[in-house]
Amino acid sequence: MNKRYETFIAQSKKIFVLYSANGVLGWDHEVYMPANGAALRAEQQSVLSGIAHELKTNPEYIQIIQELLNDKTLNEAEKCNVRETWKGIDRSRKFSKEFVENLSRVISESFSAWHQAKTENKFEIFAPHLEKLVEIKKEEAKIVGYKNHPYDALIDEYEPGATVEKLDILFKDVKEQLVDFTKQIFAKPKPNDAFFFGEFPHEAQHDFCKQLVTEMGYDFNCGRMDVAPHPFCIGFSPLDTRITYRYKTSDLSEIIWSITHEGGHALYEQGMNPEYIGLPAGSAVSLAIHESQSRLWENNVSRSKEYWQHYMPVLQKYFPGKLDQVSGIDFYQACNKVEPSFIRTNADELTYHFHIMIRYGIEKQLMEGSISVNDLPKIWNESYKNYLGIEVPSDSMGCLQDVHWAHGSIGYFPTYSLGSFYAAQFFDAAKRDIPSLKEDMGKGKFNGLREWLRANIHQHGMIFTADELCKRVSGESLNFSHFMKYAKEKYAEIYSL
Ligand SMILES: [Zn+2]
Repeated sequence: MNKRYETFIAQSKKIFVLYSANGVLGWDHEVYMPANGAALRAEQQSVLSGIAHELKTNPEYIQIIQELLNDKTLNEAEKCNVRETWKGIDRSRKFSKEFVENLSRVISESFSAWHQAKTENKFEIFAPHLEKLVEIKKEEAKIVGYKNHPYDALIDEYEPGATVEKLDILFKDVKEQLVDFTKQIFAKPKPNDAFFFGEFPHEAQHDFCKQLVTEMGYDFNCGRMDVAPHPFCIGFSPLDTRITYRYKTSDLSEIIWSITHEGGHALYEQGMNPEYIGLPAGSAVSLAIHESQSRLWENNVSRSKEYWQHYMPVLQKYFPGKLDQVSGIDFYQACNKVEPSFIRTNADELTYHFHIMIRYGIEKQLMEGSISVNDLPKIWNESYKNYLGIEVPSDSMGCLQDVHWAHGSIGYFPTYSLGSFYAAQFFDAAKRDIPSLKEDMGKGKFNGLREWLRANIHQHGMIFTADELCKRVSGESLNFSHFMKYAKEKYAEIYSL
């Protein structure tokens, strides 16, 4: 290994250690910290971020990276580490100190205003803040630079390579194919899911879910599972990747698919190449690819018929006498109930994409200036009427429901849909490579699938772009037809279409 690269790695590791320590503090904040610890915690995290930022922008470090960008002796993983580190630094270097401070102030004011607006159902409290945010985001797009559409500059932060041009094609497919298909489903009788509701002790829910993620291949020597207000996965390294869940003792459906979702994220983190801990070659390619891993386990695996044929008797043992009359097929149909809903995070796996399509359209138009913030509730409500056939009862259950815009995250939503579409395409490729996949799932055996994901996706980190990875795995770029085929096969059977 050359000397210059060694120095780069030593400094990069230091920066990573600071960020991961910050991550542990963040995890503790969500899981264990008492309410009054918040002020000191904010200070701890801000000091650590400050030190990490200083190291990241150190002129000598930058000089070394710039020299390494032209080093032909590096291997693919090493080149990836240099290239991707530089990309991150170069993006943040474009912003002046004033811009960063202003953005952070507007975000923190927006967040409080959004919270109040949502609680009191008053969009007008949030509107002036969102207007300011949209203006700053337009400025950000100009600073970062773009070829065709200002929104491209913003998506790039979450999903490198995604553009309005590509997303428009994708969501046109969603509109033309998925809208009609779900209308046929809405017209049919819904599966009975009454057995999800009852009295299910927390301890048994925890133990059942622990068994599910263990059998997926989640390694508890390199992770843990805790209760938190919101389910999430945080990976400090492949050797320490944690998941959280929330539960309701009155509703079994609150925990199961969110734990397999977070478990899927965690398998990705645990499957990274340990040689590149904290470096781009040992980090997720993009948000959509991360989400593809969670959606694959949540939907393609743990909402499948084979899965519940295997796990139904297991579940019955955890809750003696409660689910004896429910068959694996009943449970499978219930967890695939499709119906229009107001809240994105409660949506089924089909109508979910209308929620994203609507947000994507609004974000794009706000960025190009073809709609104004004040039009938002009207456009939102009309879109929900149009695609889901429902009248939004309040802005709190409408355009104020998600925190993303208040956080300044414009361009983030599309990655959720992309994640599901990638998942369907990857799952097709896995079925091609593992002929016994469905049969294995029906026996509760997931080793083959997990190792396939590890070999084809996890261990590559950021060495390939999302598109390159997709082509290597499936032979083509992202193609919505895989998701549509999956949806049609599955739901035509459940709903007798
Ligand atoms: Zn997720």
